[in-house]
Amino acid sequence: MLRIEGLCAGYGEIQVLTDVKLDVGRGEIVAIVGANGAGKSTLLRTIMGSLAARRGTVRFEDASISGLPAHRIAERGIRLVPEGRRVFPNLSVEENLLTGMYLAPRAESARRLQRVFALFPVLAERRRQLASTLSGGQQQMLALGRALVGEPKLLMLDEPSLGLAPKAVEEIFLTLAELRGVDSGILLVEQNARKALALADRGYVLEQGRVALEGRASDLGSDESVINAYLGGNA
Ligand code: ATP
Repeated sequence: MLRIEGLCAGYGEIQVLTDVKLDVGRGEIVAIVGANGAGKSTLLRTIMGSLAARRGTVRFEDASISGLPAHRIAERGIRLVPEGRRVFPNLSVEENLLTGMYLAPRAESARRLQRVFALFPVLAERRRQLASTLSGGQQQMLALGRALVGEPKLLMLDEPSLGLAPKAVEEIFLTLAELRGVDSGILLVEQNARKALALADRGYVLEQGRVALEGRASDLGSDESVINAYLGGNA
C-alpha cells in the first residue's frame, strides 16, 4: 500500500534521512524504532508532505504522492497523529473530532463520531468539555480519534506513548491492536521499542537516518543484541 524507495530528506544543510526504503502492506502494522534523533519523525513528516523529499519516491496505492502538499495526501487517505498530540485546547472534544472530518460527507459525521465514542467511551462522556481539561492519555485518545474519523487507509502515529502514564499507554496500544487488519495499515513510530515491536507485524530500525535493520517484529523484539546495539538497551 505504501512503498518508499531511496528517500532522502533533511532541514537546510542537514541531511537526516538517507536512502530509506520501507513498505507498509494493507492491514499491516509496521513499527519504526530507533534512538532519539534517528529521523523517525522526519520520515513521517516527509510521507505526510509537510517536509519535501530531496530524493526518492513515496508511492501510495500505486500512485506517486511525492511532492504533493499535505492536504492532498490527506485526501488520498493518510492521517498522522502527531507527536505531542496537538489537540486544539480551546475546542471541545466533539469539535476537535469534527476537525478531522472536513473531507467527509456531512451525513457521515454522526456514524463516525459514534465509532470513536465506542472505542473511547470517556470521550463520549466528555464530548462537551474543552480538550485542555483532558488528561494526557485522554488527549492522546482524542488525537487518535481525530485521525480515525477521517477513516484513513494508512494511519501514522508519532510517539503515541510519549509522556503518558503506563495505564494510558496500555490503553492506547490495546486500541491499536483492535484496529489491526481490515483494510487499513498502521505505521507506528515509537521510542518504546519493545512495546511497538510487540504490537507490530514488521519493524524497521532507523539509525542516523538509515534503515539499519528490518524484519518480523517478533524477531527484532526478541533479539537482545538488536535491543542493545540499536536501542541503547533501554527500550
Ligand atoms: P525524537 O524521538 O527525538 O523525535 P526522531 O528519531 O523522531 O527523534 P527527528 O525528530 O526526525 O528524530 O530528528 C532527526 C534529526 O533532525 C535530529 O538531529 C534533529 O535535531 C533534526 N531536526 C528535526 N527537526 C528539525 C527542524 N525542524 N530543523 C532542523 N533540524 C531538525
